[in-house]
Amino acid sequence: MRVGIIGGGQLAQMMIQAGSELGVSFALLALCGDESAATICPNVTRVADFDAEALRQFIAACDVVTFDHELVDPAILGSIDESVHKVFPGSNTLRLAANKARQRELLTSLNIATPRFIVATNELELRQALDEVGLPAVAKAAHGGYDGRGVFYLDSLRDADDLLGEIPASFELIVEERLAIEAEIAVLVARSRNGSVATYPVLRTVQVDSICREVLVPSGIELELETEALGLGERIAQAVGAIGILAIEMFVVNGRILINELAPRPHNSGHLTIETCATSQFENHLRGVLGLPLGPTELNFACAAMVNILGG
Ligand code: ADP
Repeated sequence: MRVGIIGGGQLAQMMIQAGSELGVSFALLALCGDESAATICPNVTRVADFDAEALRQFIAACDVVTFDHELVDPAILGSIDESVHKVFPGSNTLRLAANKARQRELLTSLNIATPRFIVATNELELRQALDEVGLPAVAKAAHGGYDGRGVFYLDSLRDADDLLGEIPASFELIVEERLAIEAEIAVLVARSRNGSVATYPVLRTVQVDSICREVLVPSGIELELETEALGLGERIAQAVGAIGILAIEMFVVNGRILINELAPRPHNSGHLTIETCATSQFENHLRGVLGLPLGPTELNFACAAMVNILGG
């Protein structure tokens, strides 16, 4: 089988490393420039951007296609016949992944608790939302943000004015109350096209300046909450029809779990599964998109920790 990966970052690189165990071959669609996965993949197509023609040609030449990130236009993917070309996650899941407001609306429709939020798309709505959720608040760009880019801490109405001065006139923000977060956790769910589901042990993530700095397992939160978190993870994965890994970021606030956001791919909190779990998130992502049985997810050690070092 030839697996195509769209995007050439570190997640693609780690997927390719995991794939050698499964005997699959890879093709990579990477942007021009310094893309880490391109250094280890023998079959790389370089493009200036992921336009419709580049995506069509690439997808047609692969048996199964998956992603390094969700920054691909879902409308283009939606126009490709998904019953012929096996692209996972599909365009609907990608559309959801690319917009935090749509994620929150879906979770609310499933009766799953999230931080209290209001979507604002103009100045008046932003002011009304702040009135409703109260200060201090957090405003988040609904799309395009990551690693804290697009997350704005608002302590006063002045901060809201400053924010309006900085962002483009057309925007979509999630406005939410500033929470006293007791713990941040991530649940990684693997789902295979053959219908099987596996969850990884709950991971504790520690953020500094909105960037994940450390990951710890066991999470240290109460066992009951862990069980609830895993159950919620599975429910969400079923509801969005996830294939491969779905990562779900959660907050523990006042002893309750609130879902923050979803990512339909291997997740930076799960890098430690390579060394510490019976099957890494990358191998299980590939198993999922290929429709193979999933590998066991348990920890091979009593505990593990990862430190995220950013830089050149
Ligand atoms: P990103 O997609 O950029 O990672 P997140 O929504 O995950 O954005 O937010 C980044 C971090 O900001 C979170 O991990 C958390 O530490 C902090 N944060 C997000 N929302 C809130 C909130 N409502 N109250 C307090 N802190 C928050």
